[in-house]
Amino acid sequence: MLEKVWYSDGLKFSCTKCGNCCRGPGYVWVNDDEIHTLAQHFEMDDETFTKVYTRKVGRSRTLREQANDNCVFFDDSVGCLVYESRPTQCRTWPFWEHNLESKQSWDKVKDRCPGSGKGQLYSVEEITARLHEMKQK
Ligand code: SF4
Ligand code: SF4
Repeated sequence: MLEKVWYSDGLKFSCTKCGNCCRGPGYVWVNDDEIHTLAQHFEMDDETFTKVYTRKVGRSRTLREQANDNCVFFDDSVGCLVYESRPTQCRTWPFWEHNLESKQSWDKVKDRCPGSGKGQLYSVEEITARLHEMKQK
């Protein structure tokens, strides 16, 4: 039985591919499994991919950035160049714990992510699955 949450009727989200979440400073954390998936996408070995496309921050790894701070895989005309292989962090957005703390926090997400609150309805079960995926990462 799921605990009652404020979004028990589900939440809407359909990515508009605006790129707001891929532009500018920020970390896109990748673990070994995600590095492997991305390396396969480029038919590279994991070690080469790690060297070319990631950098270390403390004990973790993030995708590298372009000179303008955009994610290394963001292309202005195409969007995400690795969409099918994108990391968990990108696949589970915007259903992250702090975004779902309250209706107010969800409303703030809508300000920077125009796809949030519109389009496809995600059930509470689907949202919870994404929350768990992020927690287990
Ligand atoms: S900010 Fe939202 S709508 Fe824009 S690309 Fe990111 S997920 Fe999609
Ligand atoms: S991997 Fe793709 S979806 Fe994730 S931040 Fe980079 S460009 Fe955006």
